[in-house]
Amino acid sequence: MSSGPHVQPAEADFDVLVIGGGHAGTEAAVAAARIGAKVGLVTSSLETIGQMSCNPAIGGVAKSTVVREVDALGGIMGRATDLAMLQFRMLNRSKGPAVWAPRAQCDRGLYRRAVRSLVEDHGRVHTIQGTVARLLMSRGSIKAEGLETLEGRRFSARAVVVTTGTFLRGRMHIGTTTKLPGGRAGESATVDLAEQLERAGLVIGRFKTGTPPRIDGRSVDYSALTRQESEIEDFDYSWSHFWEQPRRSGAMTRHPIQLPCWITYLGSEGKTIIEQNIRSSAMYGGAIGSLGPRYCPSVEDKVIKFPNAERHQIFLEPEGHDTNELYVNGLSTSLPAAIQLDVLRSVPGLESVRMTRAGYAIEYDYYPPTQLDPSLQVKSIEGLFFAGQINGTTGYEEAAGQGLIAGVNAGLFTLERDPVILGRESSYIGVLVDDLVTKGVDEPYRLFTSRSEFRLTVRQDNALRRLAPIGLDLTLYSEPWILRP
Ligand SMILES: Cc1cc2nc3c(=O)[nH]c(=O)nc-3n(C[C@H](O)[C@H](O)[C@H](O)COP(=O)(O)OP(=O)(O)OC[C@H]3O[C@@H](n4cnc5c(N)ncnc54)[C@H](O)[C@@H]3O)c2cc1C
Repeated sequence: MSSGPHVQPAEADFDVLVIGGGHAGTEAAVAAARIGAKVGLVTSSLETIGQMSCNPAIGGVAKSTVVREVDALGGIMGRATDLAMLQFRMLNRSKGPAVWAPRAQCDRGLYRRAVRSLVEDHGRVHTIQGTVARLLMSRGSIKAEGLETLEGRRFSARAVVVTTGTFLRGRMHIGTTTKLPGGRAGESATVDLAEQLERAGLVIGRFKTGTPPRIDGRSVDYSALTRQESEIEDFDYSWSHFWEQPRRSGAMTRHPIQLPCWITYLGSEGKTIIEQNIRSSAMYGGAIGSLGPRYCPSVEDKVIKFPNAERHQIFLEPEGHDTNELYVNGLSTSLPAAIQLDVLRSVPGLESVRMTRAGYAIEYDYYPPTQLDPSLQVKSIEGLFFAGQINGTTGYEEAAGQGLIAGVNAGLFTLERDPVILGRESSYIGVLVDDLVTKGVDEPYRLFTSRSEFRLTVRQDNALRRLAPIGLDLTLYSEPWILRP
């Protein structure tokens, strides 16, 4: 009779396992599948695949170029955005077309459903609900061989892509006294996996980010606000509409009915409330020590760093067609909830507002990305790839671009083919990955046009021309129609 411990066999074998169904994970899964790999996408909740943690907007300057590059390499972010956009603007339209930047406000629920549907359209991607507790690694933790979930399920693979976003030892803060473990509002933090990766010798850093409160649109006085209409026109993020409609998206139509956004401002009364309560903000009261994204500042930062600014603009953005909730863009905060409500009610048009969700800040682990090679594989652990916010970036688009590269390369790794590395001259994704693995990050990294030496020639409107030859070469597309005009 055997007396050794029972080792549970793997329930299924994959070429590539992807952990996390966010913006990096979904692109990684689809890209690896398009390369020809059998992929398992394991994520804590299937319902939150494609969830936008913060502002439901895709694109903008530099970021929109990444969305179109992801699309030109067979990714899904552009297609999902086209299916979910409820307000569209072309930024920089007063300048030359070379710097035009599309930005879309999305219906949060529609976007999520579009992403899930587009992922599940790939027959080679198996979606699995499970919270990953640990990686299965060969003796000495030098090779990734699969994973095990908290629910006790095991899956094996020859490559694993980790895309767990802000979830690794995530801690949420509202004011200086409310500290909750969590990966984002309402979802648990990932602790076991974080501890295992630390034991495996990886260097760890801590960053923070924040999100504003949401409000009930029925409690807003719109007569005091400036209305901003959508500029929807004959624009698609994705070139794929020319050849392919999502097969299982059923009722979804491209470009849903457009909704207006509303503009107001934080004035002197709100600024005074913030100044008087600044020590009770998690970020200013000492509860959080880590660095946040400089270019998505909290309202506390704006008030303290720009004391002479008379007012700060606020955009009220619809969260979706099926809800009255509004996103209060410009008011990211970690003040106590009661103070947040006072600040909101100081804003013209929001005097009687009801707050549906309080804003919060979150601190989380990231891994300094100089620990990765240019294929986004961890140098010290063969077959393990990282993509997205865990590499110290911020933003959906930055996550999607990395996810695509990590997914392609994980797929190529299992096929024993050379990795794909995009040059800085070919794409913003190339700039992003090169910056990460060669320079590292000292604050949450986001893309700007100024990061690219080739910004005059690397544009959102020519991404297909730049990258389709690579996509075709890698067989990321099922048909060669893509190069047709
Ligand atoms: C509060 C908050 C505010 C933010 N504010 C901004 C901002 O102002 N500007 C900006 O550009 N970006 C902001 N972001 C960041 C933006 O949301 C991320 O950059 C982007 O979502 C990162 O994508 P990702 O795929 O790396 O991770 P995520 O989108 O976070 O996806 C992570 C996925 O991993 C899954 N997961 C985690 N742990 C496990 C596990 N153990 N097992 C299985 N699945 C797991 C999760 O369920 C999720 O599906 C904010 C994020 C948060 C949470």
